[in-house]
Amino acid sequence: MTGHSSGTPDIHNLNDSLWYATAIPEKKSSPLQGKRVADVAVIGGGFTGCSAALHLALQGAAVVLVESNEIGWGGSGRNAGLCNAGLWLDPDDVMDRVGHHHGTKLIAGLTETPKLVSNIIGRYNIDCDWDPRGVVKAAFKPSHVKGLDRHAEQWRKLGADIESFDREQTSNILGTTRYHGSIIDHRSGTLHPLSYARGLARAAQTEGASIHTHSPALTLERDGSKWNVSTPDGSICADSVVLATNAYSNSLVPGLKESVIPVGCFMCATEPLGQNIVRTILPAGGAMYDTQPSMYFARLDRERRLILGTLGYFRIKDLSDKRTWPNRIMRWLFPQLENVGWTHHWSGTIGFTPDHVPRLYSPEPGLYITLGYNGRGIGPGTFFGKMLAGWIGGTPESDLPLPIDPIKPITFRHTRQLFYQTAFRASLLRGFVS
Ligand SMILES: Cc1cc2nc3c(=O)[nH]c(=O)nc-3n(C[C@H](O)[C@H](O)[C@H](O)COP(=O)(O)OP(=O)(O)OC[C@H]3O[C@@H](n4cnc5c(N)ncnc54)[C@H](O)[C@@H]3O)c2cc1C
Repeated sequence: MTGHSSGTPDIHNLNDSLWYATAIPEKKSSPLQGKRVADVAVIGGGFTGCSAALHLALQGAAVVLVESNEIGWGGSGRNAGLCNAGLWLDPDDVMDRVGHHHGTKLIAGLTETPKLVSNIIGRYNIDCDWDPRGVVKAAFKPSHVKGLDRHAEQWRKLGADIESFDREQTSNILGTTRYHGSIIDHRSGTLHPLSYARGLARAAQTEGASIHTHSPALTLERDGSKWNVSTPDGSICADSVVLATNAYSNSLVPGLKESVIPVGCFMCATEPLGQNIVRTILPAGGAMYDTQPSMYFARLDRERRLILGTLGYFRIKDLSDKRTWPNRIMRWLFPQLENVGWTHHWSGTIGFTPDHVPRLYSPEPGLYITLGYNGRGIGPGTFFGKMLAGWIGGTPESDLPLPIDPIKPITFRHTRQLFYQTAFRASLLRGFVS
């Protein structure tokens, strides 16, 4: 098993992002040098890899984590910071897709993920702007209200605290008249994603894990009953390997990269907003996303900058050009911000699966992989990292929240990727003419 190029179609670097400019510092770490022996080697330094390293170290395992670039360089450092409970799917759809046995465990685990994240933040004193004021999902069309009601109803039956709002209440809480109704999930919250990723890595180091950045795993090979991971200047001999490269997977494990569809996600941030104007944007706090296929999402950061995003890969040369879609979305959503300038724009890659359910793989004994969070990875990444640690530590397979699937390349992956990108563009255009 070999390969080292990232293989993702990212068109921006992490350091283009607002998060890179405002994150807590990364705890110093150096590239892996020489031969290391460990119980577990972790490949990938996002939420999944860092959470796995933290929970393995807490179990007393000797852990060495290698990351190609720096901590949070993948989706974990680039995302919008909306920490939601559950998957995109309604609970009944989760049950249909993974069956009652796994579905019950998956839903129970994922409903708790914002709590898991906030507990880790509290325990390790991670300065990442955790704000538990919930996340709003807003109906882009009148017909979408029904879907929100169904989603809320199914979750309420499971005890979730979800509130519904009519059109007028929605404009009061969001500061925009564009939506036809909404729900707020009080389990959810927002955070600074890169600071959280760096804080998780620091927590893992505090508990004894070794972390080596700028150390791409070049090969992953079986060596008798052990695994051998090689990097440019070192190697790790370990009993087990956690592969946490998700949408940024390369050819280290055959077929893995091809088992998710890479989908772009674009974000931009304004300069800090003035006190008077900021009172009119998301006045109830928290964050929002909507029900369009391309999805608009919006939140404020600690310095009162508006952060706006949508799905798709977009290369935008000049954000001061009023015709570009970030400006059109801004005028459509919050016309009061017409003259506010952008300071940062960036993008990243999300790993989609055809049925929107994450995947759990173990193609050979001692090799553990999760991926495909479909754009909802803060809670799930933390949860699945912890789950992999538990599995390595002895959790029986019958207690896992997902079936263990064979790695299967997605049929017509490039066509599907193209389809998504075209659908997102079309949805953006439709958004402006509706
Ligand atoms: C723009 C954007 C917005 C998003 N918004 C949200 C949101 O608001 N809420 C939410 O919950 N989720 C969101 N997501 C999804 C979320 O960010 C991801 O699901 C999550 O970060 C996945 O975490 P991970 O640790 O599994 O993978 P990643 O964070 O992608 O980490 C994989 C890491 O593996 C490393 N790697 C790859 N190959 C190798 C190798 N050979 N050797 C060593 N290291 C390697 C990469 O450098 C990378 O750092 C968003 C994603 C994007 C891109």
